[in-house]
Amino acid sequence: MGWTERQRAMLQAMGLRVWSPVAGPEATATGEPVHLPELDVDTMPSPPPARRSSPPPHAASDAAVPPPSATPAPLAGAVADLDWPALRQAVAACQACSLCETRRQTVFGVGAERAHWMVVGEAPGEQEDRRGEPFVGPAGQLLDRMLAALGLSREVDGTDPAQQVYIANTLKCRPPGNRNPTPDELARCEPFLMRQIALVQPRIILAMGRFAVQALLRTDAPIGKLRGQVHTYQGVPLVVTYHPAYLLRNLPDKAKAWADLCLAADVLAGVVDAPARAG
Ligand code: SF4
Repeated sequence: MGWTERQRAMLQAMGLRVWSPVAGPEATATGEPVHLPELDVDTMPSPPPARRSSPPPHAASDAAVPPPSATPAPLAGAVADLDWPALRQAVAACQACSLCETRRQTVFGVGAERAHWMVVGEAPGEQEDRRGEPFVGPAGQLLDRMLAALGLSREVDGTDPAQQVYIANTLKCRPPGNRNPTPDELARCEPFLMRQIALVQPRIILAMGRFAVQALLRTDAPIGKLRGQVHTYQGVPLVVTYHPAYLLRNLPDKAKAWADLCLAADVLAGVVDAPARAG
């Protein structure tokens, strides 16, 4: 297929090199051989063994998993009216689940508080736990390159909220050993994310990884079945895509993630209609 300049720029930013269709007989059938980005494997969070048959801890995955517990989180009423400083304090002091016993610090969120874009990830990893910021390390760098390809940034200095992104995780504390979050932990932490979304009032939400999708869409459907369409969360258009940590191990799916970002951008630009309201 032929790539537009915009598509080429985005693919390059995501670490994908696009070969020209006239590159010669070595070019693949799709004309898009994939090259590994330069990664410092020593700093990668819990790299999985090659060709493992089950999803690694914290990895976004296409595998279906049960949704969070329907048990009402005890924090819901307490945080529903908090402003940003109070919400940040509430998260920092939270002991609503056992993850408070093993965290170094909570990982609240980062970015402009009225950004038009909001990225929702899964749970802090080891580096996030150390630095107190979501999406750092190789996965975070990949996310930043993906966002930059759309002219977006997590930096708060910009003056145009249309180019700003607020990034938060579904869980605010790191599960020990980067294990998967439990449904109970997700349910207990959920009110914090809900309040963050209510305060940001984003124009578009990117749900990255299965736990973010579970929390926001209340579904156990695999990401592969949910991506490529526009969902809504409380009236906000929502696009599902793979977690950058998953993309680092599954390079061909980077092109799908790029398509998801394009879809989100098109929704904001009015090129693609979002459902009126789906929940
Ligand atoms: S993960 Fe969420 S609910 Fe559990 S202690 Fe941390 S902030 Fe509280």
